Amino acid sequence: MDIKTKLIKGGKYTICPKDREYRTINPPIYKGSTILMDYRDFKSSKPPFHGSYYGTLGNPAQLALEEAICEIENGHLTRACPSGITAITTALMALCEKGDHILVCDNVYYPTMNFCNKILKKFGIEAQTLPPDVGENIIEFIKPNTKAIFMESPGSNTFEIQDIESVVKIAQERNITTLLDNTWATPLFFRPLDWGIDISIMSCTKYIGGHSDILLGTITTNEKHAKEMAKFYEYMEVFVNSEDCYLALRGLRTLNVRMKYHEESALNIARWLQSRDIIEEVIHPALESFKQKDLFRKYFSGSSGVFGFMFKKDYTEEQYEKFFDTLELFPVGLSWGGVNSLIKSETYTKRQYLNPKYKDKPIFRLSIGLEDTEDLKEDLVRGFQALDGH
Ligand SMILES: *Cc1c(COP(=O)(O)O)cnc(C)c1O
Repeated sequence: MDIKTKLIKGGKYTICPKDREYRTINPPIYKGSTILMDYRDFKSSKPPFHGSYYGTLGNPAQLALEEAICEIENGHLTRACPSGITAITTALMALCEKGDHILVCDNVYYPTMNFCNKILKKFGIEAQTLPPDVGENIIEFIKPNTKAIFMESPGSNTFEIQDIESVVKIAQERNITTLLDNTWATPLFFRPLDWGIDISIMSCTKYIGGHSDILLGTITTNEKHAKEMAKFYEYMEVFVNSEDCYLALRGLRTLNVRMKYHEESALNIARWLQSRDIIEEVIHPALESFKQKDLFRKYFSGSSGVFGFMFKKDYTEEQYEKFFDTLELFPVGLSWGGVNSLIKSETYTKRQYLNPKYKDKPIFRLSIGLEDTEDLKEDLVRGFQALDGH
């Protein structure tokens, strides 16, 4: 079955069996801590309790969502978490123990790095930063106690692509677990497990939910890691409320059409920005000018709507304020992947393996929403005029 059909059909029938009298297309939202049981079932129940026994162990909408995500990720097991960052921290905690060493790409989502350096460290786990394009050079970073390699491709804000095949080969030979944050591409454009990655993580807050109104993350593992992840998840009693699972599942149904529009509109705007005098560089992995475009094409079947750009000149803070204030269709805000376009800027002063051209100069990140492409360009033109003092 093609992924487009899986997006529509996935997860549904776990909760809409044919013998039900009242059958809706979408799952019901259950509210409840207590799950009523027959006394004999209660006495004889044994773990795993996922989706039964008590409200902290999952609800039917969560099970449907997990099943649907698992199918499109080509995984063995999916577990939902209350945010993308919780999915990341839960997966890393499940894998690592005191004395372990982990490798983390320099371009990961900033809170991921924070968690590794500040929290894992507290529990005796050492995190070491990797160049975002490390590829087969990863061999030089591996230690006898290296347990896991965490990647994000393309990386946050600077969009470097990781040579996953080289990293996976070396990791597999040494029994090191590989994890990849797949939030930007979604399984529609890249499926990490198909390339030998052990654990794929997504912030469904972004494109899966797609409307900036939920927080949710998923961990999807291959067969090798399924048992370990399921146990850890159950002991931690992580779960997501029924409404947010429902909305994520609904988001999945339209992912294909939304992503196609995000892709086309973002590429159109990226190419247009490249042709403007005011712009120094557009950082979009699907552009001809992108340094790692061959790697991008090898792994990805499409691109989403988030990319960056830099201005040629340096402006004063006051001028930047004018620029942001003039934009009407690009409000400033964190997160991305919704129907509304968004903008934010990020200036790196230190990042261990930062490309020097990105140091101390703001990178502007655009999330292209579902508005008309020409309207968005006109809005940016007005912003550029305000920036240059017109
Ligand atoms: C936003 C984001 C996350 C975290 O997701 P939340 O749901 O906001 O916690 C993780 N990884 C990447 C790449 C992100 O962009």
